[in-house]
Amino acid sequence: MTFCCRKIGMMRSTLFLCLCFSGFVCAVLPADDGWVRRRGQYIELVTDLESSQEADRLVASFDAAVTQWVEFWQIDQFDLSSFRVSAFVMRDEGAFRQAGFIPPEVPDFNFGYAMGKKIWIKAQQSEYYTRHLALHEGVHAFMFAAFNGAGATWFQEGTAECLALHRNFGRSIGINVMPLTREEVPYWGRFKRMEQLRNESQVPTLKSVLGYKPNLLGDVGAYSWSWALVAMLDAYPEYRGDLLELAAKGFKRGPGFNRHFMMAFQSEWPILLARWQMMCHDLDYGFEWERERIEIGMNDPLWRGQPLKVQVSADQGWQSAGVRVPGGVKMRLRPSGTVTLANTTRPWVSEPAGITLRYHRGRPMGQLLVCVLPNAPNDAEVYLSEPAVYPLTKEATLEIDSYSWLLFRVNESVGSLSDNQSAFEVNMEVSR
Ligand SMILES: [Zn+2]
Repeated sequence: MTFCCRKIGMMRSTLFLCLCFSGFVCAVLPADDGWVRRRGQYIELVTDLESSQEADRLVASFDAAVTQWVEFWQIDQFDLSSFRVSAFVMRDEGAFRQAGFIPPEVPDFNFGYAMGKKIWIKAQQSEYYTRHLALHEGVHAFMFAAFNGAGATWFQEGTAECLALHRNFGRSIGINVMPLTREEVPYWGRFKRMEQLRNESQVPTLKSVLGYKPNLLGDVGAYSWSWALVAMLDAYPEYRGDLLELAAKGFKRGPGFNRHFMMAFQSEWPILLARWQMMCHDLDYGFEWERERIEIGMNDPLWRGQPLKVQVSADQGWQSAGVRVPGGVKMRLRPSGTVTLANTTRPWVSEPAGITLRYHRGRPMGQLLVCVLPNAPNDAEVYLSEPAVYPLTKEATLEIDSYSWLLFRVNESVGSLSDNQSAFEVNMEVSR
């Protein structure tokens, strides 16, 4: 409902400038044919959504998102003046077909479809998810307008998911966010699907994701992993330039695009595989890249057995010992210290064994974990193997098979780290 409408003289009675209760400005097109129509700067919407406020919010959100997509890709020179998407957001798909809004060349689809500057979206059970899908299809239209394509399937869907995932709406919308809670993104469901696939040992290798075929048929898992890969490339400052260059190669299709990607990341490949494996293991609500970037390199010094002290902060994700450990080494690890976990009813002080009153992923909260991450993980299979993670509750001996990084973290959900304090200490020495 609107409380303030001002008629624009030159449009006479056919077009109103509408300042809605939420402060959005959009044009309300004549609706005498029964459809709700709205025109924004970059979107012209036809819908049968019951709520005209939802339609207003969608248009305002879309317009604000487009300028953020331009910023994301750093393409200030891109001429937006001719970029306007015709969007059909549908509750009753049959009615849209009958009205001729869906041409016969549009195939059956599960959630949404984009063709040129036209997009079709099936209205979902939450306003968030309907808007998410409209932005997702809008990104496809945008990528074709800006780059003449969006490359291989993983990149096309991954970028669309990244730039559709949002917080707030209207002019306050922020795109490319990491959801904090399930309530923030109702029916989005990507983390739920990822968790299912983790439990079924069906987390794809990087190679599997690169090989996704064009018709994903609404496979939520495939969308999720595509998003994760693009989000990871965006999150590491050293990959950002390559991500922008990849977008510029969007006119290339499947294998050609992937060849370009693999060449760009050739020297970084083992690091990329290692980061991929750990991110897929941990992605969930509240995941913060500021805490979860894994700082490892192929040039990390080889550990030659000298005693080493590693601090493991309770408010950070996986933290490297800063060395690569050669295969055949047997080492002794001695953990010590206490950390404070403060996200519960009262601060909990934990020793390396953790607090057995609460559990996360089957292990006591606050438990010190160690991960042996090979420098050359196997990327030949379809699915990733589970990372080798062990509890480090007391002095322990660890045998390393092949060149590996050694990572540590405190066991707690990724969204609960911010109020943790202090660090464990781990002493590393050769075991004789
Ligand atoms: Zn898509």
